[in-house]
Amino acid sequence: MTAELIFVGTELLLGDILNTNAQYLSRRLSALGIPVLHQCVIGDNADRLAEALRLALTRSDLVLTTGGLGPTKDDLTKETAAAVCKKRLVRHKESLDAMRAYFSDKGAEMPKSNEKQADLPEGALVFPNSNGTAPGCAMETDGRFVLLLPGPPREMKAMFERSAVPFLRRFSEGVIVSHSVRTFGIGESAMAERVSELLDYKNPTVAPYAKNGEALLRITAKAETEKKAEALIAPVLQTVQDRLCDVIYGVDVSSLEEAVVALLKEKKLTVATAESATAGLIAKRLTDIPGASEVFHCGIVSYADKIKARLLGVERETLQKQTAVCADVAAQMAIGALRQSGAYIAVSVTGLAGPGKDEHGRDAGLAFLALTDGACVWKREVHTGHTEDDCRDYNRTVFASNALHMIYQYAAAFPNKPAGGKPLSV
Ligand code: ATP
Repeated sequence: MTAELIFVGTELLLGDILNTNAQYLSRRLSALGIPVLHQCVIGDNADRLAEALRLALTRSDLVLTTGGLGPTKDDLTKETAAAVCKKRLVRHKESLDAMRAYFSDKGAEMPKSNEKQADLPEGALVFPNSNGTAPGCAMETDGRFVLLLPGPPREMKAMFERSAVPFLRRFSEGVIVSHSVRTFGIGESAMAERVSELLDYKNPTVAPYAKNGEALLRITAKAETEKKAEALIAPVLQTVQDRLCDVIYGVDVSSLEEAVVALLKEKKLTVATAESATAGLIAKRLTDIPGASEVFHCGIVSYADKIKARLLGVERETLQKQTAVCADVAAQMAIGALRQSGAYIAVSVTGLAGPGKDEHGRDAGLAFLALTDGACVWKREVHTGHTEDDCRDYNRTVFASNALHMIYQYAAAFPNKPAGGKPLSV
């Protein structure tokens, strides 16, 4: 059984919205053991949609569409799919009643134009919409299946899980299980070299990825049952963990900040931040994690030199002699943030987000970071190598990730001190 996905919507083609349905459905179908071999995006155009559906039905057993089930004239998916599959549209009474109830629950009367949403291909299995009006459906044509789902992700996901998944289970050939090993402080190719022979494995497969200065390895197995897939993965995961133990910060965690907040909670540590180049990004990323208030004290965005001096006590002489972007300023910012906040540790960043060079000829992508617990200060110098016009986002993300990683290293070693710290009396 192979699947093909067709996403309908001119907004998608214009780039006005991101095709998040593609990511969701590809992941879910793959987890159900149904390989997705083709995907395409079509505007709100009946002829091109019909062409895409016909082509899909020549090469895929299962075709899923999202979008175009709404009540307006440009919503043509159902009509087009029914015509391609040579089915009549017939009014589905239960769907009409459910739509009327949906409107009356909101104290409104259903507009006449919505009625067409209850017209469904004859003989189709109807998928109710628990988060909206348009029902979806599954229909068979010449031994192949077409599933129509709504466009809004909230409606699509609920319908997919409640109705499409039970329908699709009969076609799934086993399950696919994946685990992601996340690392920091090593490049993708260096990471891949350490596990090079594993990259040739067929089941499980081991695939390296790089994103925003981080590298991760995804280990994926296919088997009849989840238990069997896990058993295939276990020894490979163990080997990966043994070989990369110095750079791994988590398995199946979604981000560095998630791992940091969990570890700070576990070690009962609190943190404050003093940020210049990242201007609050570290604080934002930490507080994106639910429950961060247990571990995050405060963030000081000390962008201007006078604020670094006044709020954080950075020496004016250091700022003048060494500029604001230097290791000593980073150290003094961290010490100042610790004093102001009363947190257990404080981390700081000062750097050049870019683009180009600063007035001293230093390239963008340079940052100095510091972490202190009041007894020692640990420093880090980062060079991202990105100086081009659109480098700001990347540089700031990588600076913030390095700061988070310093917190991670401190907390992981706690109550011992991480190696490489330069003691500095406060
Ligand atoms: P509606 O009843 O809201 O018209 P529909 O099934 O006709 O639903 P569309 O009109 O195609 O769906 O899309 C409605 C909205 O759903 C879009 O404006 C967009 O915000 C979101 N959407 C549609 N397709 C996708 C997609 N592939 N990925 C992410 N969002 C999408």
